[in-house]
Amino acid sequence: MSSIAPRRTGEDDGLLDILGMTSTEFVEASHALGVPRGRAMQSYRTAFREGRADGNWFRIDDHSMNRREVEGETTKFTLDIGEDHETESVVIPMRGRRQVTTRTLCVSSQVGCAMGCGFCETAQMGLIRNLSAGQIVSQWWAATHRLEATIKNIVFMGMGEPMDNLDEVLQAIRILTDHNGPGVACANITISTVGRVDGIRRVADFVKQPGFHRMNLAISVNAPNDRIRSELMPINRAADMAMLKEALLDYPLRSSSAFCVEYVLIPGVNDADEHCDELCRWLEPIRCSLNVIPYNPRRDSPWPAPEEDDVERFIVRAIENGQFVKRRGTKGRDVMAACGQLGNPAIRRRRRVEPPAVVQPEINGTPIRREEP
Ligand code: SAH
Repeated sequence: MSSIAPRRTGEDDGLLDILGMTSTEFVEASHALGVPRGRAMQSYRTAFREGRADGNWFRIDDHSMNRREVEGETTKFTLDIGEDHETESVVIPMRGRRQVTTRTLCVSSQVGCAMGCGFCETAQMGLIRNLSAGQIVSQWWAATHRLEATIKNIVFMGMGEPMDNLDEVLQAIRILTDHNGPGVACANITISTVGRVDGIRRVADFVKQPGFHRMNLAISVNAPNDRIRSELMPINRAADMAMLKEALLDYPLRSSSAFCVEYVLIPGVNDADEHCDELCRWLEPIRCSLNVIPYNPRRDSPWPAPEEDDVERFIVRAIENGQFVKRRGTKGRDVMAACGQLGNPAIRRRRRVEPPAVVQPEINGTPIRREEP
């Protein structure tokens, strides 16, 4: 059970942080302050559904939207969470069945990230701070009540490694799925991880609880073997692909669902035919859909984006290998809103809360130089 203690972020004004609490937690904490339960529940619904506060014992953390950049129908926005730090989120239109457009919100779980993946913009910042559950939920609140977007899906694919801040991420998911609050279907929520196996095992326990078994898990595999993966993703030096596979095979995957395996296709690094075959062999026992993501060049990128023909060739070969494949679009590339492009270079390394958890990434023996701000 999660605690029902009042959750406060930043300001210590004694007010309940409604965006960081489930309805049950909010009602009980309000009751402890003398507010009748029915009245508190009504306020909870009003705060989430209508986007306004109708009481004075709680606060909606309505962070100011520092920037809002639009490319086509994709909108990237940042929220000012104080101390010169900001969250980054992206609202992405998805063309679904019968051409119906739904909106996916990509949220950040941290400011910056400690994982140090060589291809990712956010990694260049290092870890600046973890976000609280309320700060994660406030990204949904801002998209819904400021941008007036109707959000169907939520993916934890913005800044940060969700497994490095799992308590707050899971609390955010309890809130986002609360029927009295946002009411997002759990089946429409995806956590994406670099593949921290301890985190995967904790999520495995979480999804065994009633109401959460439909939540989706995405894993950034990004390489066909340990040699390439360790060069691209320092996490692989701590937990290799054999350990990752074991954690995935132990996961209580429902019979009707599958993992999403992400594969960022980087020219000259992991896009050869042999890489495709080797990857598909590794994936064979894992029920998954392979999501091929054409590399979006980060700032000062050592690699270009892949050519269209090479993306096609890789996808066709994976299909011929019997793998179910999806291709991820590159929406928002021009405003640095596409996968792996989030992160404000101006706040890089302004404050690092932990030493870099990882060694310097390198490709084919050549270290990737981290650019100083
Ligand atoms: N830390 C989590 C979630 C954030 S990244 C994770 O690693 O999964 C979300 C996805 O974007 C991951 O699959 C990651 O591999 C991918 N990604 C990172 N940088 C990218 C880039 N420059 N181009 C394309 N995809 C990228």
